[in-house]
Amino acid sequence: MSFFGGGDSGNIDKKKYESLTLSIRQTVLERSHYRCQKCSVKFRGSNGPFFEHINGSLKDNRPSNLRSLCDKCFEHVKKKESRKGFLGSMRNNLGQMFGN
Ligand SMILES: [Zn+2]
Repeated sequence: MSFFGGGDSGNIDKKKYESLTLSIRQTVLERSHYRCQKCSVKFRGSNGPFFEHINGSLKDNRPSNLRSLCDKCFEHVKKKESRKGFLGSMRNNLGQMFGN
């Protein structure tokens, strides 16, 4: 009997979307027509884009989990994002402890 059964195909997917790559950003931006998805302001210069992780997982950079925001709207989710980032790295460390 094994606790570690099951394929690791999900793992490949996770790795692929672990970091917010340029092409992922591009996909999200094209989807949002280079506008903030909250207030619809067009991105230019320093007002964006910033990316919110909808499900709160910074390791989940699938375009469906990302929302492009301007600096003002991102201000509201920034706290959430950094808190999750902290928890995320805690989880990571735990994973390493258990030989993940
Ligand atoms: Zn906005």
